[in-house]
Amino acid sequence: MQVPVSETRYRAIGAETLSRMPEWHRLHEETRLALRIVAKVLPFRVNSHVTSTLIDWDCGPDDPIFRLVFPATEMLAPSDYGHILKLVEKDAPMAEIQSAAENIRAHLNPHPSGQREKNVPKVGNEHLSGFQHKYRETVLYFPARGQTCHAYCTFCFRWAQFVGDTSLKFASKEAENLRRYLHAHPDVTDVLFTGGDPMIMATHRLAELIDPLLEPELDRVQNIRIGTKSLTFWPQRFVTDPDADDFLRLVERVTRAGRSIAIMVHLNHWREVDNPVAHEAIRRLRDAGAVLRSQGPLLKGINDDPEVWARNWTDQVRLGILPYYMFVERDTGPRHYFEVPLRKGLEIYRDAVSTVSGLARSARGPVMSADPGKLEVLDVEEGRDRTRFLLQFLQARDPSRVRRPFWTQGDRDATWLSQLESCDRSTQPERPFDAELPLRATR
Ligand SMILES: *Cc1c(COP(=O)(O)O)cnc(C)c1O
Ligand code: SF4
Repeated sequence: MQVPVSETRYRAIGAETLSRMPEWHRLHEETRLALRIVAKVLPFRVNSHVTSTLIDWDCGPDDPIFRLVFPATEMLAPSDYGHILKLVEKDAPMAEIQSAAENIRAHLNPHPSGQREKNVPKVGNEHLSGFQHKYRETVLYFPARGQTCHAYCTFCFRWAQFVGDTSLKFASKEAENLRRYLHAHPDVTDVLFTGGDPMIMATHRLAELIDPLLEPELDRVQNIRIGTKSLTFWPQRFVTDPDADDFLRLVERVTRAGRSIAIMVHLNHWREVDNPVAHEAIRRLRDAGAVLRSQGPLLKGINDDPEVWARNWTDQVRLGILPYYMFVERDTGPRHYFEVPLRKGLEIYRDAVSTVSGLARSARGPVMSADPGKLEVLDVEEGRDRTRFLLQFLQARDPSRVRRPFWTQGDRDATWLSQLESCDRSTQPERPFDAELPLRATR
């Protein structure tokens, strides 16, 4: 297919260049002011593909894709908003505004250093950065050059990574560290490259990391996964970017080596891939031999609607993307703005999944990716004072806990694991997983 030349060049739009985007004047004056203020505090980046192809400007601030990338006033406490507004109104120096914004950010995110620093694994006595290894079979790797994205999601729990120091000092040793780590951990079958978005990286950088995994001595690494939002935010990455074809050749090398390469696409709404460039990207990736799987959180005001999920999964299956996880929005970032009660999340999941083809029912949800593991909400029973939630681990630090449903209880509108506690401990003390409840979820 031919992509118009005007759509092939990546143009970022940030807090300082917002007012130059062509659609700016279509927003109400109040919205424009609010955006200018909030974008000074929260990480903000969109690009020309998102603004010209994805957002429906007739819906303005109610458009789901608009909400995905443009921050809202309510994401800041009124006093914080007022503080920045005052500075902007009196034309305060940039440095003063930046330092005020930094102060606000510092108390907004409970994990300002990101999750990479947690569980930094060791090989011998040496700490290796960039890894997270929680489940035996799968190691997460955060390439230093992949810790940003083609645009930013307003709900993202990783946003601290974007505003902080994205130091590249370990980048040169990365390929070597990855190999050493895998040699020291023979149980690992899956390497998941994540970020940010690793597809922000040049293909030759990705190849430096992936090609060494294809050597016969590492043939137990069967699945290479890349977590990405590029199919939404910049599908040109796979179609018209100068090294798009090189990436497809890399995909082919992986499959020819007898391994699988899974592109784990982050999708929240069917509209994100409802355009010719995204379709072409999907076609090219599939032709090269990649498997595509989708995952994404359930978000109030964006996709808290069974019809959106039903269409999401149905369209994906037709396009060749396998629905994988429907996540519960995590307990970090501006979660009060986006969170959906677990009870409602389960209703949405059931209503959506019961209307689609069996092929589209491969999505599991709602799933909390929490400290002890990935927990699926199986059932909710409303009682007189407490509501009971039946959960099961799909992944757990302790593999013996997987697929053993257990009841917890909490408030009717509980939104996260940290608000639930065991209700079986006294009656079934023999169940080892209850001994650890109430579980405290830290991420
Ligand atoms: C989700 C996740 C994985 C991958 O889990 P799968 O169920 O295999 O997709 C691996 N590590 C961490 C830390 C995760 O959160
Ligand atoms: S693309 Fe992923 S990492 Fe980047 S902002 Fe969105 S959710 Fe966060």
